[in-house]
Amino acid sequence: MAAWGGLGRVVLWLLVGVVLCVGSFPGRAGAWGADGHHATCLLAEPLLEPATWKAVRSLLPEYANGSLASLCTWPDDIKWMWKYHWTAPLHYIDTPDFLCRYNYDRDCYDENGHKGYCASGAINNFTSQLTNYHLRESNPPLVTRALETEYNLTEALLFLSHIVGDIHQPLHVGFTSDAGGNTIMVHWYRRKANLHHVWDTEIIDKAKDLYYNKSLLTMVNAIMENITNDGVSKAQMWSECPNGEIACPDTYATEGISLACQYAYRNATPGSTLADEYFLSRLPIVESRLAQGGVRLAAILNRLFGANSTSL
Ligand SMILES: [Zn+2]
Repeated sequence: MAAWGGLGRVVLWLLVGVVLCVGSFPGRAGAWGADGHHATCLLAEPLLEPATWKAVRSLLPEYANGSLASLCTWPDDIKWMWKYHWTAPLHYIDTPDFLCRYNYDRDCYDENGHKGYCASGAINNFTSQLTNYHLRESNPPLVTRALETEYNLTEALLFLSHIVGDIHQPLHVGFTSDAGGNTIMVHWYRRKANLHHVWDTEIIDKAKDLYYNKSLLTMVNAIMENITNDGVSKAQMWSECPNGEIACPDTYATEGISLACQYAYRNATPGSTLADEYFLSRLPIVESRLAQGGVRLAAILNRLFGANSTSL
């Protein structure tokens, strides 16, 4: 029994080792933290038309209880799994260092050179997959089954909702050599952190603590009030695409790298200390990018599934 117990322990540790190895598959950290993604999706939800909600609910798994926000971090949870390793580059875009410009043809590749494997390519791809939703609704079961084999529209919805959030985090469209700020170590007040993490998580956390009673929901409500009070025309402007497309990720990415250069990278060299001055001047950018992400996600889903979507 003792020997078996020992072997059992060895097997257990081997299993732990395998899990750790799988978990540490070389990738890069970074996505809005869970709060950033929840905020984007919570901001989008009240802006969905009834027909859009119906479609979204029909695609969500039952355990989501009709909450899109509850599954908006799913693509981060699964990107470490073998089956989904290919999705890791879909969360960001690397652009040439210090150029502060984005170009789809030049920048949208994964590290193996596959074109379209970046955040903007993914938004286009999952949007286009979701245009099959109405076909699925209106076709006989055999065609429906064929479409379901080709595309998993539930996954497409979750990826789209997540990546529209990511592309609005300015450092998700960052420089190549520092992996969107992941390799730039700074001091965030008294703690060490990498610059990417400051933008994914720390600024939101600090704002929640200081202004919103530690509550993300309170923060989201304040951002929403801002959009609806003085931003009706602004929200309308954000939601439109220049050529009437369903989604226009190239626009979002171009804004992202520009904000990364103007705000995220500025005065944030390796070893620098980022404190009140940085926090107070960057928080409005973070809040407006969360707002834009939410407004645009809702607009994309309304164009896909809303009352005017059947003409697609
Ligand atoms: Zn992500």
